[in-house]
Parts: sequence; C-alpha cells; structure tokens
Amino acid sequence: MAFADTPDQRPKTEAHKQKRILSGMRPTGKLHLGNYYGALYNWVRLQEAYRCHYFVADWHAITTEYEAPQAISGYIPEMIIDWLSVGLDPEKSTLFVQSAIPEHCELYLIFGMFTPVPWLERNPTYKDQMEQLSHKDLATYGFLGYPVLQAADILMYKADGVPVGVDQVPHVEMTREIARRFNHLYKPIFPEPEALLTEIPKLTGTDGRKMSKSYDNCIYLSDPPEVMAQKVRQMTTDRPYRRDPGEPERCLAFPFHRLNLPQERIAEISAECRAANLGCVDCKKLLAEALLENFAPIQERRRYFEAHPDEVRDILHQGNKRAREQARITMAEVRDAVGFGLDIQSWR
Ligand code: SF4
Repeated sequence: MAFADTPDQRPKTEAHKQKRILSGMRPTGKLHLGNYYGALYNWVRLQEAYRCHYFVADWHAITTEYEAPQAISGYIPEMIIDWLSVGLDPEKSTLFVQSAIPEHCELYLIFGMFTPVPWLERNPTYKDQMEQLSHKDLATYGFLGYPVLQAADILMYKADGVPVGVDQVPHVEMTREIARRFNHLYKPIFPEPEALLTEIPKLTGTDGRKMSKSYDNCIYLSDPPEVMAQKVRQMTTDRPYRRDPGEPERCLAFPFHRLNLPQERIAEISAECRAANLGCVDCKKLLAEALLENFAPIQERRRYFEAHPDEVRDILHQGNKRAREQARITMAEVRDAVGFGLDIQSWR
C-alpha cells in the first residue's frame, strides 16, 4: 500500500529492537480510515523493529465520557478486532486494556502528588480541547490531570519512544518532566521517552469536514466493501461540470488517492484532472477500486476474528497478563524508591 507521506521510522540496528514503544487509543467509537492512516499503519510498521505496547485507553475515555461511560466497554472488542485485522501481531506487540492493569492508577496517584498544577494548566491542548468540546463540562480534576495519567501509562513500561503527531509533542514533554522530577526526588528509575514524530496525513470526512462519527462522514474499517465503495462515490468534490478543469490539491478525495495508488498513477490522475480529461465519477471509481483492493486482506482478517471471539479474548487475556507482569515489576521499584511497600511482618 502506498503511504509515501510517512517517514520510515523503522530502526536500522539490532540495538533498536530492544527499545520500547508505547501508544494507546481511546475506545470512543468504531475505527475509521483516519485512525488507520494516522496511527495504526505506523503501529504495524513499528512492531517489526521495536518492543511495542499498544493499549486501549478506556480510563482516558472516561475523562470526557464520564456522564455515559457504559458505552466505552462495548467498543473495546471491536477495537481489538480492528487492531488484529490491520496486522498488529500479539506475538510481536503487547496488546492490552488500561483498566485491566490497576497499577496505572497507583502510579498516576503518585505522579499526581508532585506534578505542579501550573504544568497542567499551561498544557496547550487543555484549553484547546475545552473549547472544542464546549458542549461537555470538562472543568474536572480528571480532565486537567489527563497528562499525568498519560505519563503513568508511558513510564509504567519504561517506554523509550512514543509515536505522536506534532500536536501531541507537549504531552510527551510533560511525561519527560514528570520522569525527571520523580528521578530527582526519589531514585533514577525512569527513562525520558522521546516523541517519535509521525506525519499524519490530512484526511477529511466524505463531506469535507473533519472525519468524525458525530458528522456521520467516516469510512470505517468495519464497513463492508460495498459500503466503502458507496461512501467514496458520495465524496463531495467542488467540480460540478466534467468540462471544468479540476485542482487535485483542493480535492478531498485526492489525499486518499495518494495513500492508495502508485506514484505514477497519481501523477496521471493529477494531470488528467487539471486538463479536464477525467471526470470525478470515473476518478472516484478508480479510488474505490484501489481502496477495496488494499483493504481486502484487512477485511478478510476482520471476518476471521469476528467469527472467532474466543481467540480474540484469549489474545487480550495474554496481553493483559504480560502487561501486568511488567507493571508489577515497575511498581515494586516505584514503591521501593518512594519508601512504600513496608513488610508489615517486620513491624515492631
Ligand atoms: S477528477 Fe478526481 S482529483 Fe480531480 S476533482 Fe474530481 S475527484 Fe478530485
């Protein structure tokens, strides 16, 4: 599959293979192509070379969905099926659910004790999100402390790298600051993780607005082929007449072409569009064919995992177990560093 816009982050040496990567996703709905190209495609590549931990961030989801958290757990199995379908391999990556590892809460609490409130208040995404989600009451302790929980997630597994888009770099920087503060106050046990900058392609929904389930404009990984094709056909283009020359750089379908067609074909389409030799109907038909071909193996794996829920459950169970073992080791170190964990048998 063409994905020329993302730099190749695969490491070149054996030493890199010992490095740990951590990333998570909030289970707030079905996964769409924006999630795939913006994160999952990169996750699959990273697992070839790093020790990857990918988690379902269900506690993070509660920070904004606290009024109706019941739906969150319903999205988790679908999310895991999507992850497995796109090629995340439980033999290479540890896949787990955040709430199955209660140690995250304990580390979050300890970090919360020494994280200065101004660090959180100056977080640039905090005010941004408050504005974007102004229909929700997010003036909560949990929402302000979101980056502290994120730091606990990352440092629990002593991650060396966190794949993020440029807007999330401040969160990784805050994790580094929290790690430094812990190491300075107690004992140097945490590495300072680096942001692995991921170029996220700018994809819009089928109507030109941000791809979002609330706008009903997403192409989902779970859409059957005929639904995917129909959604591509219905994409809005601003070229009402076939005789009018088009401008691919302004066309919302064109970023999808870039991700799904070979370079030489993209150049041809671009030239034909500008010369008005190619109509949007035919152009989107080409895109739909390429998309369906590229996603056929993913959809086949999806059908397999849908038909084998016990296998999915087992994969998750094993992933949770592995993650918890690591979390217990880290928390034993943390308690020792902070001076907790006294054996009550030794009291006098
Ligand atoms: S021909 Fe293709 S690239 Fe050009 S405006 Fe139509 S859909 Fe977009």
